[in-house]
Amino acid sequence: MDFISQFSVSLDAILGEEKDTILYLDSHTHDDVFQERTMAVVNRYPGDVRTDDKWVSVGLHPWHVNDEWQVQLEKMRSEAFLPCICAIGECGLDKCCESNYERQMEAFRAQVLLAEECGKPMIIHCVKSFQEIMAIHKEVRPQQKWLIHGFRGKPELVKQIMAKGMLVSFGHHYNVNSLTYVALNCRSLYLETDDCGLSIRQIYENVRRHLSSGSLG
Ligand SMILES: [Zn+2]
Repeated sequence: MDFISQFSVSLDAILGEEKDTILYLDSHTHDDVFQERTMAVVNRYPGDVRTDDKWVSVGLHPWHVNDEWQVQLEKMRSEAFLPCICAIGECGLDKCCESNYERQMEAFRAQVLLAEECGKPMIIHCVKSFQEIMAIHKEVRPQQKWLIHGFRGKPELVKQIMAKGMLVSFGHHYNVNSLTYVALNCRSLYLETDDCGLSIRQIYENVRRHLSSGSLG
């Protein structure tokens, strides 16, 4: 199961007229209620992976990194290799939360290594930590793709991220110029609902509206 190729949404699917027949792809959600004609990667915390899970990611979120993070990591390790796990995450770095930042770094690095070991891409939560994430990426030179989820940064930042070979996904809030930049350059996008409460169809609709009113060539 290749999450990166499976969940890439083509521009044709977003801009085309086949709204009623396409399969909606949600690359990151916390909502595991089944939606019709939707394929979604559901986020699970360590120890929460279920036997009937199909497309799920497992990760230790930076908000939940405490002094027991290594215990959580061991739980993750027992789940990360399961076939239903298509990505490691969400995990990452967040300068605006209570968790100790040094500890977040340790937990993130450990999950990077786990992703490499099990050969699965990463779904990354990044708040005011792009320099740190890019530095770790440069140092580790991972084989696996890193998807920065819920990307809201400016086009200058998305250019830097993509130049490093990383990917971004867009949810409820985003910078329209960044969205347009990725759409033009990749002819595809990663879209997500995360925990925003909207359906993935509504996200597609927002993106369609923004791209149709912009200068897409
Ligand atoms: Zn999330």
